[in-house]
Amino acid sequence: MILSPERESFRRCPSSSVRRWGVSPLGLMGVGESGSLVFGMTVTLHHFGTLSDIEGIVHGVSTRHGGVSRGAFESLNVGLHVGDEAEAVLENRRRLCEAAGVPLDSLVAGAQVLGNAVGWVTAAHRGRGARDVATALPDIDALITDTPGLVLAAFSADCPLLALVDPRRRAVGLVHASRRGTLGRIAARAVRAMERLLGCRPADLRAAIAPSIGPCCYEVGDEALAEARQALLDADRFFARRDGRLHLDLWAANTAQLVEAGLPPQHIEAPTICTCCRSDKFFSHRASGGRTGRFALLLGLR
Ligand SMILES: [Zn+2]
Repeated sequence: MILSPERESFRRCPSSSVRRWGVSPLGLMGVGESGSLVFGMTVTLHHFGTLSDIEGIVHGVSTRHGGVSRGAFESLNVGLHVGDEAEAVLENRRRLCEAAGVPLDSLVAGAQVLGNAVGWVTAAHRGRGARDVATALPDIDALITDTPGLVLAAFSADCPLLALVDPRRRAVGLVHASRRGTLGRIAARAVRAMERLLGCRPADLRAAIAPSIGPCCYEVGDEALAEARQALLDADRFFARRDGRLHLDLWAANTAQLVEAGLPPQHIEAPTICTCCRSDKFFSHRASGGRTGRFALLLGLR
């Protein structure tokens, strides 16, 4: 039985606060013939070196180039919730999926509410959030699955997006680590969910953090430091004051969470690109003043 989005219920796993929807698995679908993660005609995907030698996974980060959106959303905006024309966004998503070699309807996305909830995705969720916001998995910022044929999707304009892959157990996790989500330890929660629900060993996991706002550009107020001190152990290590201005390093905070969750440091690929510095290539909320598109991280098992 598939429950309609507005009627669906989910249960919260008491041990890990992972939500699983009240659905049963359907037949599986493949993720495309080509196996190419790289190029469509005009869309280029960024790949992680640490994941590139793992057989049988699909992954890639889009840029802002190669789409049809205009103005602030120029041009490959794949966010449906930012005020762009839905038709243009869907064409952009089609181009993104073509570049990744996956069907649009194999995507599964969470609603991304800057929270720290983790959703356990099965075949029955195929296509949720692929073509509209209404069917995205509600209140979810991280997704885990061991089901082949699904492509987890997350969207960002500065927030770190994390890919987690277990090559041994054949499982993946995708995390939208906003500042709030990071303080809510969403990366560590996703690792824990993969461990408890999918049988992964943290030491086996590989992780990569997509281009996102770096410590160079992420200036925050003193209240952010106060919040972090409430939420995280030894939070000051992630903040630096330069010329009297406070900066937060979300890359370091999420990397530390992954290491503390049991990942070997050498299994973690940190970003080298700050989206705010490179708003010519990636959408950046901070660089744009707020009105802008979203790029995507896709991750799935073939
Ligand atoms: Zn920067």
